[in-house]
Amino acid sequence: MSAPSPQRPVRTRIAPSPTGFLHLGTARTALYSWAFARHHGGQFVLRIEDTDVARSTQDSVEQILASMAWLGLDYDEGPIYQMQRLDRYHAVVRRMLQEGSAYRCYATPAELDAMREAQRERGEKTRYDGTWRPEPGKTLPPVPAGVQPVVRLRNPLDGDVRWDDLVKGPISISNREIDDLILLRPAEGDDPQALGIPTYNFAVVVDDHDMGITHVFRGDEHVNNTPWQINIFQALGAPLPQFGHVPVILGDDGQKLSKRRGAVSVTAYEEAGYLPEAMLNYLARLGWSHGDDELFSREQMVAWFDGSHLAKSPAQWDPAKLAWVNAQYLKQASDERLAALVAAQLARRPAPVPSDPTLQAAAALFKDRCSTVVELADWVSVLSVRAEPPADELALHLTPAAVDALRDLRDRLAAVDWDKPTLSAAIKAVTTTHGLKMPQVAIPLRLLLTGRAQTPSIDALLTLFARHTVLERLQHL
Ligand code: GLU
Repeated sequence: MSAPSPQRPVRTRIAPSPTGFLHLGTARTALYSWAFARHHGGQFVLRIEDTDVARSTQDSVEQILASMAWLGLDYDEGPIYQMQRLDRYHAVVRRMLQEGSAYRCYATPAELDAMREAQRERGEKTRYDGTWRPEPGKTLPPVPAGVQPVVRLRNPLDGDVRWDDLVKGPISISNREIDDLILLRPAEGDDPQALGIPTYNFAVVVDDHDMGITHVFRGDEHVNNTPWQINIFQALGAPLPQFGHVPVILGDDGQKLSKRRGAVSVTAYEEAGYLPEAMLNYLARLGWSHGDDELFSREQMVAWFDGSHLAKSPAQWDPAKLAWVNAQYLKQASDERLAALVAAQLARRPAPVPSDPTLQAAAALFKDRCSTVVELADWVSVLSVRAEPPADELALHLTPAAVDALRDLRDRLAAVDWDKPTLSAAIKAVTTTHGLKMPQVAIPLRLLLTGRAQTPSIDALLTLFARHTVLERLQHL
């Protein structure tokens, strides 16, 4: 096995298939690949693996690009589309056919099915039986008419494929376990020399080679593909990248995180009001550690991420921890930025969006109690849309004495200056006049204004509201 060349400049890539949104697992390997390249002053490439023509869509490509941009994972090259590189794969296959490291196989799907069935009956592992594999002195069957061939790798029969995985450590697979992989699917039409669409394992190697990729981080569902890929690299005489296979992300039920078990796309978290830096921080920690650090910036991640300390065991998706991380970043976010994010959330609702400076002041006041921008928008929305208080809480707190005090307060609020000290003084005066304690007035007032018994301080809260809104919400008393 050719050793990775330490002289090659570090180049990493992420290679999503545009058959859906950017999956959280792919976002995490994109982050690792990006951070590794940035750490080493190298380059990061985005490649779109769109050879599954039936399932790839332009919409997915756009979602993936948007998610990469949202996360701030900037790439130095790309997006490079595999379907625009067919000529290149064909040229490589022609060379391999000439050199004898690949061959045409005319087995029909029906023959392959029968072959596998017979192997199953004999209790053998199913594999291609090598009928069309050229060997010295072997006579191949006559080429059947009307069958478009596939091209297969002439995989070595003996020896082991070994690599030192950046995550899993040394791995070794015997070539006897591996059959002759299909490199190209049959071409459309009748020309038996025509070449079709490459399979994942072939295109990925041609691309990783052509793009000078030195380190491949990807999900460990690809571990079983790597021996084939290494054999293709070797057939091409190409230097091997280093591989790091990152364990899957599990849902909270211990099963692989999947659509059926909740949101799995980056887009869904953006819509649910998570901040990109929180997602990056959380995704980074999910499968990698730097001591006990839980919160760190992109710059710190780049400084620390050298490919070590990647966890060998699967990480568990923890929505509560993600919410906590997001809450920490919300507290740090500027009011101006949060106001814009809240405005974007509220714009999707049938409610008027408060304008600045109220919006920024509201973001500042409520952000400490929120885990997401959606929760923050829920708070801000009460400024313009009345939220019904829970009946039991209202019954408990809106006592006859509180009603009297709030009527009195309403009358005073009709005339006072609308600033925090004056509003605070008005509430205190009413409380004293009616012989009540502060919560006996403040809690029912909170309920009537926001639908909630617990809010930030009542005077700060009042300043956010327009006077006429407060008077309206106390009108029916
Ligand atoms: N298109 C493959 C995937 O999305 C890429 C795997 C790789 O990184 O090699 O799983």
